[in-house]
Amino acid sequence: MSIRKALSIVLRVLAPDKPYHVQWMVTRKCNYRCRGCNVWREQDNKELSAEEIKRGLDILRKLGVVEVLISGGNPLLREDIDEIIKYASRYFFVTVYDNGSLAAEKIDALRRANFVAISIDSLNPDKNDHIRGVEGAWKRAIEAVERLHTEGINVSVTPTISQANLYEIIDFTKHFLDKGIPIWYSLYSYDSLEHSNSLFKIGKAEDAFLIRDRDAMVKVCDSLLEMRQKNDDILITTKVLKAVKQLYSSNERLWRCRALQNFFVINHRGEVAGCHLHEPVASIFELPDLWESEKFEALRRKYSACERCTYLCYIFYSIHGNVAGNMEIVKDKWRSLKFFLRRH
Ligand code: SF4
Ligand code: SF4
Repeated sequence: MSIRKALSIVLRVLAPDKPYHVQWMVTRKCNYRCRGCNVWREQDNKELSAEEIKRGLDILRKLGVVEVLISGGNPLLREDIDEIIKYASRYFFVTVYDNGSLAAEKIDALRRANFVAISIDSLNPDKNDHIRGVEGAWKRAIEAVERLHTEGINVSVTPTISQANLYEIIDFTKHFLDKGIPIWYSLYSYDSLEHSNSLFKIGKAEDAFLIRDRDAMVKVCDSLLEMRQKNDDILITTKVLKAVKQLYSSNERLWRCRALQNFFVINHRGEVAGCHLHEPVASIFELPDLWESEKFEALRRKYSACERCTYLCYIFYSIHGNVAGNMEIVKDKWRSLKFFLRRH
């Protein structure tokens, strides 16, 4: 990362009451058929052009956004993804998601990203491919991770913790840590009928994935808390791990949701919502007029009382969703941060 971009990001991190994190699902297209996912079941070919996305990115910059997470579908399926990543990486801390199928073909584009997250759910190839719904997914993903790592690109492995892989998460974590590959996690969650007016659907209800063994989940949190004292490549922060542990041990939420305050999501059509489970409230191009409106203030109050989901990224953004929270990430991840600065 250039010194100029790093300084610009630091200034935005220290500015209070900004939407620091944005997830932009730039396409609905996906080449995988994951069993716990609704995205590939509900396709929509209409999506913003690269030029429109660039205009949207300019708006995000003016709003004070720090991190743009580019996902989908699989964002790497877009033919213009190189142009989008290149533009976004001028201003933002950019994370790009891939299911492991295309990253190895997009090395040059991904070099500009600050972080590439590759999803792998198990060390067992057959189990992984069953969850992903595509034969050969595991092999391709492992090869992609190794290739990116060798190329000096900051790559992490991102398993979705579910009942299907709960008992192997610690071994899974050790396996990649031993190779020097950082780990970020998702938590299996699903969108129910009560989310019928949501921006779009991601998680599909699947009995086999629902975490039923809550004690085992608490133990996973304890083990990760202990392991991350020695290894910064476990990218989830201590504070978030403690909050997840509390959720599974006593059903208590240690955070209030900060959707549409410190984070929001944008879909492939450029529609904006606090999170994907709520209805769209604006187009990206209307945001400058609406961000400080009474309408958005009312929505923020509503979302801050909401306890409807356990999507880990939203928990993370909520817990680390203000200047103090940003500083906690910096403190918690100081060695990782130096790693990012060194590599780009
Ligand atoms: S989870 Fe990701 S890779 Fe799998 S089908 Fe859904 S969007 Fe595609
Ligand atoms: S808790 Fe927050 S992120 Fe989850 S559904 Fe409610 S508003 Fe959305």
